[in-house]
Order: sequence, then structure tokens, then C-alpha cells
Amino acid sequence: MTVSTTTVPTIPLNDGTEIPQLGFGVFLVPPADTQKTVEQAFEVGYRHIDTAQMYGNEAEVGAAIAAAGISRDQLYVTTKLNNGYHRPDDARRSFAESLDKLGLDRVDLFLIHWPLPTRYDGDFVTTWRTLAELRDDGGTASIGVSNFEPDHLERILDETGVIPAVNQIEVNPFFTNEAARAADARHGIATEAWSPIARGGIAGDPTIAGIAERVGRTAAQVTLRWHLQRGDIVFPKSMHRERMEENFALFDFELTDEDVAAISGLDRGESGRTGPNPNTFDRIPD
Ligand code: NDP
Repeated sequence: MTVSTTTVPTIPLNDGTEIPQLGFGVFLVPPADTQKTVEQAFEVGYRHIDTAQMYGNEAEVGAAIAAAGISRDQLYVTTKLNNGYHRPDDARRSFAESLDKLGLDRVDLFLIHWPLPTRYDGDFVTTWRTLAELRDDGGTASIGVSNFEPDHLERILDETGVIPAVNQIEVNPFFTNEAARAADARHGIATEAWSPIARGGIAGDPTIAGIAERVGRTAAQVTLRWHLQRGDIVFPKSMHRERMEENFALFDFELTDEDVAAISGLDRGESGRTGPNPNTFDRIPD
């Protein structure tokens, strides 16, 4: 077993906690494969796991955590509120279930997964207040949001005064999402960049390929390094151990400012998204 000795840098959050800037995401990792996959990620060196109620694999993430025997203070675990559970009682009940499935008495970060402005009479503010209560009760060290557009952020800040520690949003070289990143920065909110390699879509881009060739790295590594140098938090997903290792080997090379600018210049606006627009996304999973 190869155990990495790489130390992943941490980012300070606005609530006094810290988060490892590189983690491992488990969206679309089938439950049957999740324990083995997360155990491999731990072997590679990842200590930050990003899951969600919606992914249906919290129990298997929990099994991997239990089997790995890594001390709790070395691990960073995020989960997210599912879209059907925005009402306060549902949020509290599902959060307790998440802790139970993960086998933890506290997570590090709990997020509202989607704002769903067209559901619940447009009221994500009450849901946000409930997350603040869950944090005050000690079930999660930090709370944050995901897929919040600048006006959604303004609204929860104006109405509650509670600032999210993070906003987890889609960011990739073809959808740099600068307006949302700038709103996060304005309020001292850390940006987490989801689908950081555009679900593999960065393969074949000539600009990224050119930089990769010059620095002797892969397109995925160059893209993940671009995110890190912009200050965002990332957690690429892979079910292949060699790719987990590739995506973890980001701390022994650097991009120039020109490289970073060239990759940022690949932005295609809305058409560069790989996922849905948060203003209209309204799916409530079964
Ligand atoms: P990623 O951008 O991480 O890409 C994952 C895909 O790329 C997989 O198909 C994987 O295939 C492939 N891949 C991984 N590494 C490499 C590599 N080095 N070279 C080539 N291909 C590679 O997409 P995700 O959507 O998984 O995003 C990452 C995480 O972000 C999620 O797992 C989840 O935690 C979070 N997320 C959050 C969302 C939200 O709404 N808050 C929405 C979407 C994601 P393989 O597995 O076969 O290696």
C-alpha cells in the first residue's frame, strides 16, 4: 500500500475553522463501490470527503471511515441537505440520519445542496436558519450553501446575518462562474468548485494540453492546479486509483500567472456549464 506523505494546504474559513483545499468527491460513486473507493482515496492521502444525502452513499462513506481508523481530527467530512428536506423538521430529521449513516457525532460541514428558488414558496431563508441551529447544537462545525447565486447569498445575509463558511458552485475552465466567485469573495465566503475538471470534459482542450505538455503534467493536473492557484477548494472524483493519485499530485509544480489567465480565458459563459442552472433547477429526488 502506498501512503502519501503529501500535506494538503488548508484554507481558513470565516468561522475560525480550516478546510483542506483538496478533497475527494463521491457524486455518482455507486453505493456498492463507495466503501472500497473511499478507502483507496484514504490510502492515496485524501482526508477530505465530499458527499451528500442525494448521492445515496453516506452509509458506505461511513463504513470506509470506520474501517480506515484515521483519527477523527485528521478527517474533514462534508454532507448536504437533500432537496426534499428543506422544511425545518425534515432538515433536522435528515441531518440526524446523515450523522447516523456516516457513523459520526459531528460533521465538519453541512450545506444546503440547492437553493430551489422555485420551490417552498422561494423560502430558502428558513432552511438556512435551521442549518444555523444545527451548527449551534454542535452537530456540524461549519455550515454553508451550494449553488447559491449572488442574489440568493444577499438574501440570506440580509435576512439572517449568518454568513455561510463556503458556497459550493460549479466552476471549470469553460464556466469560470466569476460573478458567483466574486460575490463569495466580497462576503469572505470560500468558494468550493464542483465538477472541477468538467467531468473529464477538459480532455482535448488545446490550451490546457499545451500547458500540460510544457509543465510535464496531465490536463487534469493542470486544471486542478489552476483552481488551487485561484484559491478555490476542489474535490475531484475518480473510481480509478491511478487517477486518484494523479489528481492528488498537485503540490510539486506551479502554473505561471499567464497560464492561469489563459485557462480562465477559456470561459464560455452559460454554455460552459456541465450541470443545471441554480435559478431553475427544481428536482426533488424520489
Ligand atoms: P469531476 O470534474 O471531478 O470529474 C469526474 C469525472 O472525471 C469522472 O467521470 C472521472 O472518471 C473522470 N476523471 C477523474 N479524474 C480524471 C483524470 N485524472 N483524467 C481523466 N478523467 C478523470 O466531476 P464531479 O461531478 O464528480 O465533481 C466532483 C465532486 O464535486 C463530486 O464528486 C461532488 O462531490 C461535487 N459535486 C457537487 C455538486 C453540487 O451540486 N454541490 C454537483 C456536482 C458535483 P472515473 O471515475 O472513471 O475515473
